Amino acid sequence: MEQEYQRVWDECLGFIRDNLSGKEGEDAFTTWFKPIVPVKLEANTLTIQVPSQFFYEWLEENYAELLKDAIRLTLGPTACLQYSIVMDKSISDSPITTRIPSTGRQSTINRMKDVPMNQRSDNHDILNPFVIPGIQKIRINSQLSSAYTLNNFVEGECNRLARSAGYAVADRPGKTAFNPLMLHGGVGLGKTHLANAIGLQTKEFHPEMTVLYVTSEQFMQQYMDAGRNGTTSDFVHFYEMVDVLIVDDIQFWANRGARTQEAFFHIFNTLHQANKQIIITSDKAPSELQGLETRLNSRLKWGLAAELLPPDVETRMNILKQKMRNDGVEMPDDVIEYIAYNINTNVRELEGALISLMAQSSLNHRDITIDLARQMVDKFVKSTSREVTIDYIQKVVCDYFNIPIDSIQSRTRKREIVQARQLTMYFAKKLTKSSLAIIGLQCGNKDHATVLHACKTVANLADTDKQFRLWIDELEKKLKD
Ligand code: ADP
Ligand code: MG
Repeated sequence: MEQEYQRVWDECLGFIRDNLSGKEGEDAFTTWFKPIVPVKLEANTLTIQVPSQFFYEWLEENYAELLKDAIRLTLGPTACLQYSIVMDKSISDSPITTRIPSTGRQSTINRMKDVPMNQRSDNHDILNPFVIPGIQKIRINSQLSSAYTLNNFVEGECNRLARSAGYAVADRPGKTAFNPLMLHGGVGLGKTHLANAIGLQTKEFHPEMTVLYVTSEQFMQQYMDAGRNGTTSDFVHFYEMVDVLIVDDIQFWANRGARTQEAFFHIFNTLHQANKQIIITSDKAPSELQGLETRLNSRLKWGLAAELLPPDVETRMNILKQKMRNDGVEMPDDVIEYIAYNINTNVRELEGALISLMAQSSLNHRDITIDLARQMVDKFVKSTSREVTIDYIQKVVCDYFNIPIDSIQSRTRKREIVQARQLTMYFAKKLTKSSLAIIGLQCGNKDHATVLHACKTVANLADTDKQFRLWIDELEKKLKD
């Protein structure tokens, strides 16, 4: 039975959606309203659960009026909204990323804290008495690369939160709840690109601001040099003069450079108190970053930790197309598809594959064909544990039966579609390491029992039906090719 609070919230959502227009509104709706979970309705007060403190602040800062209108329209003029904040969990475990089915994560809630609307915590707004107004700015080389822009950072489900938070930070550095903004994720998923792009965008919006990009390794080197030359206080002053500080790959400090971390900790505090923006990247979420000083680590949780996930196949396709546009290269569609479907590890490998394919073709004066792509992918990906993806299986099966690929996801019970879906599940079980639950999720949101049943059905038919056996053999050959 549907709960009353769910019904009320659904009605609010309807109103909110109607009042957020255009593509931007749609994105805002997905990013900021979909993750909200209604939890309670008592008297006139609806309690909604949000994933974190920053999330709550962001809603209050940007959508307080909209939320108020929505709730009053639904529950009457005396209605109240109360937030319940999920505490002490990094963003990667929050419902924001669990929306993405391929990660297979589950959200857990540790501790809850109720915050009444309009009672904002003020601990980000301490003023620093040591900042002298009007201090003369020196020119600092920002060390940003002009190649990594927001414009050419392709958007997808995998990076939507990080990208939109980055945009917000560039627009109002130091003035949003995203301070520090912590971008984390595996290698080659775009952390450096995005951090750099935020820096460039900031300079575009605010040419007067000093933006500085450093790797954590550079920072450490400079700190040690300064110590040797007796210029440590210059070093600290220099960093404290920056408006937007970007430190890349902070995991490098784990288990080393205790004094570097200490110096950074103080710089961090000074900047933060002066409402300067700090952007940090790391290959792990703050909660999983071991070997970092506790005080520093806890600072990292003050703002927003946004995860970059491996791109889905559609985003991979878009990235490839964009790189080709940039480089003025052309390639048959089936080649692009082949690469996008087969390289699913990270963007750097995707790019690597594209580049070596182009090199192969120009060095050997060969046309870029699917055969060449196949050879190259084999060579290229072998070293990185090549595995067929469920996406690719779906595509091969659907092409084979000449049915549209999204029919696998549909609810239809048409015989040919059911068969294709079952074959997809069968091959996914056989050729990938994915669990039954994950396979089910990706093949039309079925449960693990359905997948198990499909595997048995296919195995039975393979024994009894000659035509079916032939299909399986042919498909398997295509998949292993
Ligand atoms: P990381 O710092 O996370 O290891 P990088 O930022 O160096 O990853 O990204 C690796 C490569 O992939 C870079 O060339 C970058 O331009 C590219 N890349 C990553 N994500 C995207 C994206 N969303 N759109 C376009 N290019 C991307
Ligand atoms: Mg990097």
